[in-house]
Amino acid sequence: MYRNRVCMRVLAAILAAAIFPVVSLAQSTSPVAPRRQQVEAIVREAFDKYKSDTTGKNADYIPYLAQVNPKLFGIAIVTTDNQVLTMGDVNYSFSIQSISKVFTLALAMEELGPEKAFQRIGSEPTGRAFNSVNAVVDMPTHTGNPFVNAGAIATTSLINGKNEDEKWNTILAFYSKASGEKLALIDEVYKSEAATNTGNKALAMLLAKYERIYSDPFEAVDIYTKQCSVGVNAEQLARMGATLANNGVNPATGEQVIKREDIPYILSAMTMAGLYDASGSWAWHVGLPAKSGVGGGIVAVAPGKGAIAVFSPRLDEAGNSVKAQKVIEYVADHLDYNIFSPGSVGLK
Ligand code: GLN
Repeated sequence: MYRNRVCMRVLAAILAAAIFPVVSLAQSTSPVAPRRQQVEAIVREAFDKYKSDTTGKNADYIPYLAQVNPKLFGIAIVTTDNQVLTMGDVNYSFSIQSISKVFTLALAMEELGPEKAFQRIGSEPTGRAFNSVNAVVDMPTHTGNPFVNAGAIATTSLINGKNEDEKWNTILAFYSKASGEKLALIDEVYKSEAATNTGNKALAMLLAKYERIYSDPFEAVDIYTKQCSVGVNAEQLARMGATLANNGVNPATGEQVIKREDIPYILSAMTMAGLYDASGSWAWHVGLPAKSGVGGGIVAVAPGKGAIAVFSPRLDEAGNSVKAQKVIEYVADHLDYNIFSPGSVGLK
């Protein structure tokens, strides 16, 4: 009888471990993940404080983006132990745009390692707009860094595959693993951007002149345009960020998506150039590695703790979502997330 009960308990424990492996794995690897109650009140305050802010305007150089409802506003936090907190329009799928650049860099590093990726792309801030032609001419590397368009198109050109479709599918599958869900192209965004991306084609041809693009330039631009047109909602984006915060392990699936040793390089590049020529001001005020996209998303990573993603389409002059910046600054400040603050690791 006693033995039977022990057997039952052992069986139950084995079953529980099989059903909830992710929870136990995530909890054991995330001693500093913030508690839900801590975060909930702060996020609510930030949401209420900024929900009526109408500063900035939608990107309009991509026709699709000009007609997205500017009032949409969603916030999601995913912690390294996979607690999820969402507020506002969190089911809306917006185009990931430049935030994709982070994950294509991660994929290129999977294949090449950090040193070769650094040699082929570099990581210097340009101090110029994200689509600057002058930066390509002036920067000694020409590519600048992986998060301006030129450097990002060059990064996409590094992805292996026997043809364009295979390369594209590799990228999409990688993003999906980082988010823990199957992501898809928003076809209308892709068509809208592909019909108007002459500037990006010019950047790619200029890189070819300097021998700083590593596949057919137009093929690279086309795949890059597709990667920018991937749809994500705020929670999916926050989980992609949480994968970075969790040493490359997706906190929902437990899968090691990005090599652990690549994470510091990716986060350092996000700190230097994640918000383009506003990255210095962002580091000064917020102190979190982050990446923005002209679709209105920003994801910021608190290493070891989690990530916050905010979506709001109205952008400032640099092309960064106004509300997303304000919300993330508020939350990072109130939760002491700034990585440059000793308080972020508990020093009072
Ligand atoms: N797809 C956009 C472009 O190439 C991405 C730019 C961005 O999000 N900053 O212009």
